[in-house]
Amino acid sequence: MSPEPRLVLATRNQGKLRELRELLRGQVPGLDVDSQVIDAAAAGAPDVVEDGTTFEENSLKKAHAVAQHTGLVAVADDSGLSVEVLGGAPGIFSARWAGRHGDDEANLRLLLNQLADVRAEHRNAAFVCAAALATASGAEAVERGYLAGTLLTEPRGANGFGYDPILQPHGMHLSVAELDPEVKNSLSHRGQAFRQLLPELIRVLSGGR
Ligand code: IMP
Repeated sequence: MSPEPRLVLATRNQGKLRELRELLRGQVPGLDVDSQVIDAAAAGAPDVVEDGTTFEENSLKKAHAVAQHTGLVAVADDSGLSVEVLGGAPGIFSARWAGRHGDDEANLRLLLNQLADVRAEHRNAAFVCAAALATASGAEAVERGYLAGTLLTEPRGANGFGYDPILQPHGMHLSVAELDPEVKNSLSHRGQAFRQLLPELIRVLSGGR
């Protein structure tokens, strides 16, 4: 018999699910990532309307909704790309920048077209992630991480998802989509936010609250 699930990852984005599972692997004492961590679809959790105005608000909303629905500890993130010359946009609208939620290729193309005349020195941008956890009894925590870089003029690389092919982290000559997944996790906004959240996650999963 497989052990009871203990943690729900409150997302349906397959790219994020892969990254989150790897970030958790071996990090939480007594937690078997393959059998005890389930995703929102497996948990039968309803879709949550992301109507908050900040990454933190949206991630907490998703985590609370899924924790309430399942009775388990839930972890959620809200993330996006923040472009300096666009005043922080697409920001919380990153997943639907071209109009349709989750159309990565259209989002990336629209952004490249919008920035077509912007010179290299003004193409600063950063991935931002707020990682939140919530328990069924209403406890919560949220942390933020960043990955800053320059926007390329053409996509490069086949790994990752979303805007990975057009962000080149500062100090590197590769786009995020050209990095090995472990390297991306070690320096990404999501990796940073989740590593900061881990002590609290370990506390709630060991019954600390
Ligand atoms: P969310 O699912 O509402 O958090 O939307 C996140 C969106 O931001 C994704 O659809 C991507 O477009 C973008 N995004 C977030 N994190 C990353 C990343 O690690 N790489 C590339 N794009 C990302």
